[in-house]
Amino acid sequence: MSENLSEDAPQNTAQNTVGPAVEIERLSKTYGGNGRAGSKDALKEVSLTIPRGSFFALLGPNGAGKSTLINILAGLVVKTSGEARIWGFDIEHDMRAARRAIGVVPQELNLDPFFTPREMLELQSGLYGVPKPQWRVDEILESVGLRDQADSYARRLSGGMRRRLLVAKAMVHSPPVLVLDEPTAGVDIELRHQLWQSLRALNKAGTTILLTTHYLEEAESLCDQIAIINHGRLIACESTQSLLNRLDSKLMSITVDQDVTTTPAALENYAPEIVDARQMIFRYPPSRIHSGEILNAIDSTGLKIIDVTTRETELEDIFLRLTRESHAQESHIMESHGSHEADNS
Ligand code: ADP
Ligand code: MG
Repeated sequence: MSENLSEDAPQNTAQNTVGPAVEIERLSKTYGGNGRAGSKDALKEVSLTIPRGSFFALLGPNGAGKSTLINILAGLVVKTSGEARIWGFDIEHDMRAARRAIGVVPQELNLDPFFTPREMLELQSGLYGVPKPQWRVDEILESVGLRDQADSYARRLSGGMRRRLLVAKAMVHSPPVLVLDEPTAGVDIELRHQLWQSLRALNKAGTTILLTTHYLEEAESLCDQIAIINHGRLIACESTQSLLNRLDSKLMSITVDQDVTTTPAALENYAPEIVDARQMIFRYPPSRIHSGEILNAIDSTGLKIIDVTTRETELEDIFLRLTRESHAQESHIMESHGSHEADNS
């Protein structure tokens, strides 16, 4: 953010001590002009509430509208209609206060390679008008695990470190709300887990976190609330546990020590998919079938289990299912969206 936000810059304190962290009401965005040929409805009347202190996931496939929503909150994209408030501040009418209430970690890694993490955080602190005695550069670097790299040039940092540096940069003005756009896209597993730890610590210390992701696994393991958008529409918004219960669908991939060509009789009930000679995939509703039951059944066939991985059902299935459900509900409400059919790419 190039604009200087230091004017009338009370740090985020006393004001607006009640109410949700973020409140979005019927937010819409059309790129390229309303109704004009080639225009794109990226967000369609999305309403959601992010409670203070929560760790909130905005989940959706590519092109769903996640970045659009986040960029509207960040003040980088202008909404077409609807309202949004951050920490009680309207993003339009109370723009400066709203912006000071959030820190944004963008999707792209854009860092000046010739600055060190310390220099970047000092610069950013100045930009946000944080008085020098209140600079928290070391503390923030520590919190994202970059203390040892404080004085190395950014170009020397690994991808995961750069991502954490962006998190640090977003935190210099102590915003109560931290927003991250696909923080782990393209980050390897180990670094992903390090970043998750940093985010968990920040959340535990009181920061409300909103992140976008297209990994259900990530949303599940980090977040207490999940909102799902697809084609610009909100199709689910509830606690992680209630969403997982509602989906009631798990997937377990088992590798065994011998070739399996046909399904052993003891496993027929579970109808595994035999993906290759030694790997079977089980899809099952965890409310009725426990994974241990399947493992025991495999054991009883005499096959030895070499490897087990479990995950939720493929996201595409979930998006399709929930989209279908939400369309079914909508047709009761009888809204006409005739002009929006072209974007089912
Ligand atoms: P996500 O972050 O979920 O992948 P985006 O918010 O980036 O989705 O995009 C939502 C839709 O809006 C996509 O169809 C995308 O092509 C379109 N879009 C995004 N930015 C622009 C833009 N600046 N101009 C026109 N269309 C855009
Ligand atoms: Mg995006």
